[in-house]
Amino acid sequence: QQRLINLFPLLTFSGPDGEKTWPKKYPYCGGVFQSPIDFHNDILQYDSTLLPLELEGYNVSSTDQFMLTNNGHSVRMSLLPTMHIRNLPFQYTAAQLHLHWGNRNRPEGSEHTISGRHFAAELHIVHYNSDKYPDVTTAIDKSDGLAVLAVLIEAGPLNPSYEKIFNHFQNVKYKGEFPGFDIQELLPDRLDEYYRYEGSLTTPPCYPSVLWTVFRHPVKVSQEQLLALETALYCTQANDPTPLEMVNNFRHVQEFDERLVSVSFHQDQQEFSHNTTFPKIIGSLFFFLFVAQWDQESKSTQRLSFDLGE
Ligand SMILES: [Zn+2]
Repeated sequence: QQRLINLFPLLTFSGPDGEKTWPKKYPYCGGVFQSPIDFHNDILQYDSTLLPLELEGYNVSSTDQFMLTNNGHSVRMSLLPTMHIRNLPFQYTAAQLHLHWGNRNRPEGSEHTISGRHFAAELHIVHYNSDKYPDVTTAIDKSDGLAVLAVLIEAGPLNPSYEKIFNHFQNVKYKGEFPGFDIQELLPDRLDEYYRYEGSLTTPPCYPSVLWTVFRHPVKVSQEQLLALETALYCTQANDPTPLEMVNNFRHVQEFDERLVSVSFHQDQQEFSHNTTFPKIIGSLFFFLFVAQWDQESKSTQRLSFDLGE
């Protein structure tokens, strides 16, 4: 069984050379505007000027080829210079997409979290500001250099669109080429609901150069597809005597002080109050049971319990 093998230097997220040591060699990693972050009520602000995302050239012809490579910390797919995000302050042109994930025992590898909750995995589609810069290498360290679209991934039914990428993990040894398809299929249906903030690359050198768009709605892939992602790839070379599985390649959430995340949608109570609503419901339930019990024991409580329930 062949696997997609790394050709790049090792980058580790945990252990002695893990993400806590990144700032020693890469000062930006200990600096400002770092990503990923947790989206929670206190930092979210509705912004009516955030328009539905407009994508151009995402429907790639099957006569064009995508290139899949293992860069030592993720699996990366090259994209075409004919793919653009339209309605940002600049035109951003697609460069590559890649994924972050957990491991088979703890499939919670998204980078961004919502109210402290991880998703199984996260897709990043990296674009660069092609109005101002000639290529992604020039743009990568500029404050307005990059725009990344992020898709949260959770378990559900088999996703045929993600399968178009995932089924190449097993067949490709070093690099793989496969036919183009509509990359928009990898995004959620709702392109109008998202979180928007200014942050950074989530791997060294952690440049604060990314305009992030994280879609509100996750997409679903099957348990089997997640398992393929969590087990098919290695950080080490094919002939390494101590092979290292490519797992848990996500950075932990960063401090987010005195900044706000713009949101394009009105938040409803349910979604953002996992930590507050649930105890309230349980509390109400116990109170109700208590009142109901009391009601049985006392004839005069019927009106009182009704009053308390208001
Ligand atoms: Zn990423």
